[in-house]
Amino acid sequence: MDPSSPPDRRTLVATIRDYVEQLREEGMEGLPAPASSAPRVMPAASAPAVSKADAAPIPTELFSKYPGLEKSSTLDELREFIGNCQRCKLAPRRTNLVFGVGNPNAQLMFVGEAPGADEDARGEPFVGRAGQLLTDIIERGIGINRADVYICNVIKCRPPDNRNPEPDEVAACEPFLFRQIDIVRPRAIVGLGTFAVQAVLKVKIPISKLRGNWQDFRGIRFMPTFHPAYLLRTPGDKRLVWADIQEVMKYLGMPIPRRGGSVS
Ligand code: URA
Repeated sequence: MDPSSPPDRRTLVATIRDYVEQLREEGMEGLPAPASSAPRVMPAASAPAVSKADAAPIPTELFSKYPGLEKSSTLDELREFIGNCQRCKLAPRRTNLVFGVGNPNAQLMFVGEAPGADEDARGEPFVGRAGQLLTDIIERGIGINRADVYICNVIKCRPPDNRNPEPDEVAACEPFLFRQIDIVRPRAIVGLGTFAVQAVLKVKIPISKLRGNWQDFRGIRFMPTFHPAYLLRTPGDKRLVWADIQEVMKYLGMPIPRRGGSVS
């Protein structure tokens, strides 16, 4: 879009809705109830179907910031490469670097924003209240063990006071996420919340517009959905996330439970 031309009404409304959602994610109370549905921007059928074996390697330019990173061919090697990371200003205040957990051969990967206090203390992503909800989505909703999927964040260290990660922090950390994706090579990725989705896809499109619509990340199917922390504040939208998760399950050939949406 030409930056000098005014946005159309739908984009403006979606951007405002997204901003309100971000404020809600940050804990602001008393905001208007979110809209329950969003226009589709990419029909499921138009996203390419790629089997794990067929997925092309992610272009090395995404890792070139750190020479040698492309040589780490397992998650353990990648973790070793990252080491006691001091590459951005988040390092001095972290307790633990939160790398990622789960099955290194997972078909399904979840990507969140950044560790919170619980994750920083434990060194594991999604272990606080939002994490419990994500675990419920995986175990009670999808019906598989949390250990069967791979879970990580865009940013590996906790931003102070849970503020949003800053662009220099994203730039410093994202090569590690892209390498994680390249090593795991999941068949599908679920992007959790505005920040993770916009950071991976490099778009500014509001999550309210993107959610539920298959996107493509370098040949891997990418499903944007709401963040579990948002769902804790807006439980009425769990059904939308469940609908998004069902799309992912269908793509992966997983049976959908007849009485879906058992996540409460
Ligand atoms: N929120 C995230 O985005 N990631 C976590 O690991 C925990 C909460």
